[in-house]
Amino acid sequence: MKRIQGWGNTETDYPVPASARDYLEKVVGKPHQVKNVSLDELIKKVPLTRLSPHSLINPDPEQRLRHARGQSLNDWIDMYDGLINTFPDGVAYPESDADVRALVEYALKEKVNLIPYGGGSSVVGHLTPPLAGPPTLSVDLTKMHQLTHLSEENLEATFGAGVSGPQLEARLKQQGYTLGHFPQSWEYSTLGGWIATRSVGQQSYHYGRIEPLFVKGHLETPAGPMDLPHFPKSAAGPDLRHLVLGSEARLGIITQATMRIRPLPEEEHFYAAFFPNFEIGVEAVRKIAQSELGLSMVRLSDPQETETTFQLSGEERLVNLAKMGLNLFGVGDERCMLIYGLTGAKAKNRLADRQLSQIVRAHQGMMIKFYLGEAWMEKRFLTPYLRNTLWDLGYALDTLETALPWEKIQTGHKAILDAISQAIENENEPVLVFSHISHVYTNGGSMYVTYLFRRSPDPQQTLTHWQKMKGAASQVITALGGTISHQHGVGIDHKPFLGIEKDPLSMEILKNTFKTVDPDQMMNIGKLVDTK
Ligand SMILES: Cc1cc2nc3c(=O)[nH]c(=O)nc-3n(C[C@H](O)[C@H](O)[C@H](O)COP(=O)(O)OP(=O)(O)OC[C@H]3O[C@@H](n4cnc5c(N)ncnc54)[C@H](O)[C@@H]3O)c2cc1C
Repeated sequence: MKRIQGWGNTETDYPVPASARDYLEKVVGKPHQVKNVSLDELIKKVPLTRLSPHSLINPDPEQRLRHARGQSLNDWIDMYDGLINTFPDGVAYPESDADVRALVEYALKEKVNLIPYGGGSSVVGHLTPPLAGPPTLSVDLTKMHQLTHLSEENLEATFGAGVSGPQLEARLKQQGYTLGHFPQSWEYSTLGGWIATRSVGQQSYHYGRIEPLFVKGHLETPAGPMDLPHFPKSAAGPDLRHLVLGSEARLGIITQATMRIRPLPEEEHFYAAFFPNFEIGVEAVRKIAQSELGLSMVRLSDPQETETTFQLSGEERLVNLAKMGLNLFGVGDERCMLIYGLTGAKAKNRLADRQLSQIVRAHQGMMIKFYLGEAWMEKRFLTPYLRNTLWDLGYALDTLETALPWEKIQTGHKAILDAISQAIENENEPVLVFSHISHVYTNGGSMYVTYLFRRSPDPQQTLTHWQKMKGAASQVITALGGTISHQHGVGIDHKPFLGIEKDPLSMEILKNTFKTVDPDQMMNIGKLVDTK
């Protein structure tokens, strides 16, 4: 069963090894004992619904609690520490376009704010109902998960927008195909959510981000149904799919999407390599990206992330042996781990692997073709469960991300990490902060930063600490000319920074588009841009 507090399901656990606990105590200090609020206490906070009855709407308090937040750190503080103060007034589970249309019509008539809900994996506050204003209805799309069409001739498949990653891949796999979109939240996130937030899968280097995979779709908007046209390619004016991609529900509810699919790959492998330091590693990765080798994934961890990965593995003996071996080859304490993926035809993979090895060797790197790459692959959807166990131990963990041109990656890395670690330094609160470069492009790469700090016995203080770190990092990112989000979207958390990366006219175009489609302002109000 899906957890109400934390990530994933209640059956899966990722224990923190004893050696890792010692490491964390050494780096960020002994955790405080912090008690989580019980489910009963949370349910008691859910107020009476303000919605008039409708056959598709469920006003049950537990269902409303389950749809009240996503996975951002302030969502966690709300849910675990009981700071939550807004809830949807009801939850609807439509099963067809007609059901969704009926809910939109109901919302128009009753003046209700609609928030579509996919997997609830948003990490930027997309799903939080507003504190003031009209009642909110959460529209959970997960009953709309059917594969309705698959064309082997055109390599396209149409699904209901509520289909989750595992459901979608299982149905395609039965017929020998894949979408290849694997965000780390794959276990629970949905097709509609991926489109609405412009998500990026871990193997985007081979399969592409969600944008090129999205062929056409159907939306139910306040202004009426909207069908995106379908051509192999078109030059007939701006491509309106790009209005829907990243629209964060401000335009309407995506009910169906047709996606570009591929035959299952002939083979797939994940391997590792190590570089003596981050500077050399970044140079090697830039060379790899600009040589367009045909890899499916490239991920370069900085020294702190490399060390933390070793410590959290719990494989003390193996790690010590690996470190001894790497030291012998001149890869010492500043070591950086590269994980790379090969997906597709054997001959293409063999060539890409050979070319990559040459670049690694030319940059004083060392290839490791056993264990590490496959271990990363096997645990890639399990790793988010670590956040649950760390939280229970007394540690809060959050991530943020940007994309920067190559010329700013080194300075940006230092500036962002310094901003986070210095944000609460004067409160004597150390922070463990590390990052990796992934999703590389010829002109730059995305930087994904993880930071871990102690929960405070006072949840308001945990929230303030997080706000200071997130705020400081966001300011540095935008001052550097980086994007406020390479993959997580805008929601509430990034909204103050959107106007820095888009000019005033672009912001006006966005606002006016949303107002045209949603003149009564009833689609996920308060998210992405202010339209009031
Ligand atoms: C552990 C973890 C790992 C993650 N890893 C990645 C990653 O690797 N790459 C990445 O890109 N993101 C990642 N994310 C962020 C998140 O998973 C993505 O933003 C994802 O696309 C959200 O999908 P969802 O179905 O969960 O949407 P939700 O969280 O339910 O909703 C997100 C937004 O989309 C809107 N929405 C959802 N469905 C529809 C619909 N049918 N029509 C219109 N609007 C809709 C919602 O109203 C909301 O505004 C991660 C999150 C977590 C918690």
